[in-house]
Amino acid sequence: MKKRLLTGLQSSGTLHIGNYFGALKPFTEIYRDYESHLMVADLHALTTIRDASSLRKNIIDVVKDYVASGVDPREAIIFKQSDVPEHTELAWVFECLVTVPFLMQGHAYKDKVAKGIEPTAGLFNYPMLMAADILLYDAEVVPVGEDQRQHIEYAREAANKFNLAYGDTFVPPQEMILAGVGVVPGTDGQKMSKSYKNTIPLFGTTEEIQKAVMSIVTDSSGERPENVYAIHRLVKSDAELEVLYRENKGKYKNLKEALADDINSFLTPMREKRASITDDDVKNILHEGAMRARERASAKMRTVRKIIGTSL
Ligand code: ATP
Ligand code: MG
Repeated sequence: MKKRLLTGLQSSGTLHIGNYFGALKPFTEIYRDYESHLMVADLHALTTIRDASSLRKNIIDVVKDYVASGVDPREAIIFKQSDVPEHTELAWVFECLVTVPFLMQGHAYKDKVAKGIEPTAGLFNYPMLMAADILLYDAEVVPVGEDQRQHIEYAREAANKFNLAYGDTFVPPQEMILAGVGVVPGTDGQKMSKSYKNTIPLFGTTEEIQKAVMSIVTDSSGERPENVYAIHRLVKSDAELEVLYRENKGKYKNLKEALADDINSFLTPMREKRASITDDDVKNILHEGAMRARERASAKMRTVRKIIGTSL
């Protein structure tokens, strides 16, 4: 029997190739080994987005990004959090078990408040909604970035608190830190990041990619332009690069042009796939996913209601 996996999808702007090689690609390589649940975290997004049309667009975009990157909706349950009301119901149950001082230790909450984000009750309770997301599906494996490690500890604590109060009901989950390719450098040589404006867009046009690649900062001190090479090796084999870089020693413009072409060839199928997915396709995927997710979540919640005494 396959273990259950759940991961939350948050759309936070246009994806870049660092996101792809560091997060999406490694995910597409492992998700079939589990019974995978991909949840679009639209209720979590309400902690930051207060504009209905942006939220709608983000929901559609993130599903398109994942499907175009290689997640097959027939092999994973792709659903929207708000389509399964049991998430908020279970979150409340957990909130009645954990303490305020415990939640106050949350790094994500403290960091956001320190950055000037309004300390809403939603932001504060976020980890218990996330615990419900995971525990409702008995998900044992939760792929997350390093920054989310504490949230999985919170989910384990919610499971333990519940199990202690009412008897064994929830499986304490484990985080899975995906082994990506390491840090993909941006056009300025720093880590590629949306917030640094040094990105090569994953679903950009040929021209946008060309422009970004030509702007890669090079220094002429070494054997080869390392910033160009570090990206090149993601899309072409070492053997091919060996020849290319030997034949074009010192010719940085040629190497950048070759890189732009190679990125474009690599991304074209994904770009075409993304362009072929309509908003209606996404709605159908989410509709189907919601039915499958609800079936599991409602069965689990029926058990919980009996155990806690809200069902007679
Ligand atoms: P921000 O600038 O807002 O932090 P970001 O570009 O760093 O955005 P995130 O949304 O923080 O992107 O990260 C999404 C996922 O992509 C995470 O799993 C993260 O580890 C991965 N990732 C982001 N940037 C890179 C990079 N340059 N190389 C490899 N992986 C990356
Ligand atoms: Mg980041």
